[in-house]
Amino acid sequence: MNVYDATRMADALEPHGYTTTSDPEEAELVVLNTCHIRERAAEKVYSELGKLRVMKADRKSRGLETQIAVAGCVAQAEGAEIIRRQNAVDLVVGPQNYHRLPQLLHAAAASPGVVDTEFPVEDKFSHLGHPTKARLQTRGVSAFVTVQEGCDKFCAFCVVPYTRGAEYSRPMESIVDEVSRLVDAGVREVTLIGQNVNAYHGADASGGPLTLAALMARIAAIKGLLRIRYTTSHPLDMGDDLIEAHRDIPQLMPYLHLPVQSGSDRVLAAMNRRHTASDYLAVVERVRKVRPDIAFSSDFIVGFPGEADADFQATIGLVERVGFAGAYSFMYSPRPGTPAAGAGSQVPHEVMRDRLAQLQALLEQQKQAFNADLCGRTVEVLFEREGRYPGQLVGKTPYLQGVHVHAPSHMIGSVAAVEIVALSTNSLSGRLVHEIHSSNVEELASEAD
Ligand code: SAH
Ligand code: SF4
Repeated sequence: MNVYDATRMADALEPHGYTTTSDPEEAELVVLNTCHIRERAAEKVYSELGKLRVMKADRKSRGLETQIAVAGCVAQAEGAEIIRRQNAVDLVVGPQNYHRLPQLLHAAAASPGVVDTEFPVEDKFSHLGHPTKARLQTRGVSAFVTVQEGCDKFCAFCVVPYTRGAEYSRPMESIVDEVSRLVDAGVREVTLIGQNVNAYHGADASGGPLTLAALMARIAAIKGLLRIRYTTSHPLDMGDDLIEAHRDIPQLMPYLHLPVQSGSDRVLAAMNRRHTASDYLAVVERVRKVRPDIAFSSDFIVGFPGEADADFQATIGLVERVGFAGAYSFMYSPRPGTPAAGAGSQVPHEVMRDRLAQLQALLEQQKQAFNADLCGRTVEVLFEREGRYPGQLVGKTPYLQGVHVHAPSHMIGSVAAVEIVALSTNSLSGRLVHEIHSSNVEELASEAD
């Protein structure tokens, strides 16, 4: 979501004369878009700000002004404290307020130290306006689109409900319009994103609530859009129609990121996840029934307060039963203001470290087995960009694996049948068999007809 937000901030600033640069030394404005989910992410902000302070002073000595803004969830959580700790910062802006960036920067130029972390009543998305086609063309082949933000679940470890606020779903029309514009600019795959994306309940044209499955059916009708993905989902919100969408919507890719966090019912209850390990396994089974080739990925937290060895073994047991194609796993990080942070029985760091290593070894083994299983098979690959070597393109399988293939650059944006011939740790190599969908919009439209 921060990738998407950063893009939208640049969109919002473009009409005010800003362009992006990859060299911070050259920048008149640096926006740090920050994450508060774990302590390490939040602490990185201050070390980064220390470096930017030096850069700002250096530019000043050359007669150049620099504004520094901190955006995102650290901004939301820490507000004015950021300026107290680092007075080189000109502006602190929360994730619900970045549509106001141009005005806020203007105010900060007159008087540095502006903080805007209100949760505004207006809809940020409707205030962002439409980016130009030239900017949309920078999105590439695969783009994120936020459809839902915030969360009402209040898992005991998580800051999201406090930093991103209450659950909010964008209206369908505004999402469909955004996706259509992206497709028109060359995007062929969208990933619909939200902290709790499958709780989506945006308004349809008549104002009634719409499910994520219904939204995806509508988006699938956009000519030229070849692939749809969504993330991140909560197991409780895997409704029947969403599961059936995996059978009925051909553009919906067979890959589901479904965080479970733990395989122990005791820990899941303490986390306030509101489901058990067997509820999770039942969802996995229901999705596999309608879409047997579906690949699963998940998030795990080890060392949640009170996690005993038997609880951890239950997590290992769940992983063995599901078989994941990929996963993110973390040591529990106490977050200020969350219920679990004050819990008495924090797990010692060495115990967490050992459990994480054991879990990650198993998950890595499963990922490699999943990749190896594809070797020798022919799959559809969407080409996204040029590879590191001349004549090489990089694309993705339906199961989100990266693949390197020798293919001409005009095939970027097209889907081809590719035979997987070799594996490396983080990607696959394939041989082009034949094109399936051209990257050309007119040809795609006639295919659709
Ligand atoms: N909405 C998603 C997750 C959003 S946060 C869900 O319900 O699963 C992304 C991931 O960060 C979480 O799945 C969790 O594994 C991890 N995470 C969140 N808070 C954490 C914390 N305090 N310590 C360690 N990991 C955390
Ligand atoms: Fe955080 Fe996800 Fe739980 Fe919401 S559902 S509180 S985002 S972990």
